[in-house]
Amino acid sequence: MKYAVLHRGDELSKQLSDKFHQLASEHRLVQDDVQPEIVISIGGDGTMLQAFHRYMNQLDSIAFVGVHTGHLGFYADWKANEIELLVKLMSEHAVKDVIGPRIVKYPLIELSINLDEGISRSYIALNEFTIKGVDGTVVAQIDINDQLFEMFRGDGICISTPSGSTAYNKSLGGAMVHPSIESIQLAEIASINNRVFRTLGSSIVLPKHHHFDIYSRKQQRLLLTIDHINVPLENLQSVRCQVAHQKVTFVRYRPFPFWNRVRGAFLGYDEQL
Ligand code: NAD
Repeated sequence: MKYAVLHRGDELSKQLSDKFHQLASEHRLVQDDVQPEIVISIGGDGTMLQAFHRYMNQLDSIAFVGVHTGHLGFYADWKANEIELLVKLMSEHAVKDVIGPRIVKYPLIELSINLDEGISRSYIALNEFTIKGVDGTVVAQIDINDQLFEMFRGDGICISTPSGSTAYNKSLGGAMVHPSIESIQLAEIASINNRVFRTLGSSIVLPKHHHFDIYSRKQQRLLLTIDHINVPLENLQSVRCQVAHQKVTFVRYRPFPFWNRVRGAFLGYDEQL
């Protein structure tokens, strides 16, 4: 079993990472930062986002595991004191032999960004993509499946994955979506609604094979964010957002249902329930 570790950089995460390497060598796991089968992120959900983007070109061959060194995370659901158990389970079960609820595959967002002069860029997001104005109100046309849907004016737009629906999208009043529903969700960030300007006001969930196109008004200074990555732009023409062909794989080794994680993260986890 080949593995890589990515840690948050704080003292506790560094210590845990050292401990993981030591235990892993005792269990004959091989560190391979270039072509790992499992990537262990030690820190928080932000560390998992970094691990995902570091290895996003190898999603077909990599599974992720998250260890949290603070509070329970959505992606970081192993506790610091469970590292021995995690290494033991890794040494006993090859990823390909881990089945059923112990392995989960979550949908992602595929973004195609078109800039002036025919330049285009592609990105994949694990949580969400947001578009915000740098100088004030964002003005954008939103199309669904190549049909005009609405003109948006406001602070911005957030498009999330199902597993990202519990992150920024939740703060915007969007719905939480189970990751078995292959979909993307658009939530408005403070839209302007009055007698002149109108948006739907509710968040919208699109299934696989449907897409949003967001057309920017010319020469707006915008901040695009893909998970934790900020991309300032002045020359955006449009962004197409749809469910990606690829999925991300998490190996759990033990079942930890999505709704239990929602309850644990937002309502407080009670082992008795
Ligand atoms: P960060 O580490 O400050 O993360 C912010 C919080 O988001 C953390 O508490 C983290 O546990 C939580 N989080 C991340 N992914 C989650 C998920 N899928 N479900 C539930 N909670 C989740 O910031 P960062 O490391 O830069 O992480 C970027 C993420 O922060 C973005 O993907 C976005 O979802 C989130 N964010 C949230 C808000 C908000 O809620 N108002 C604003 C900006 C960014």
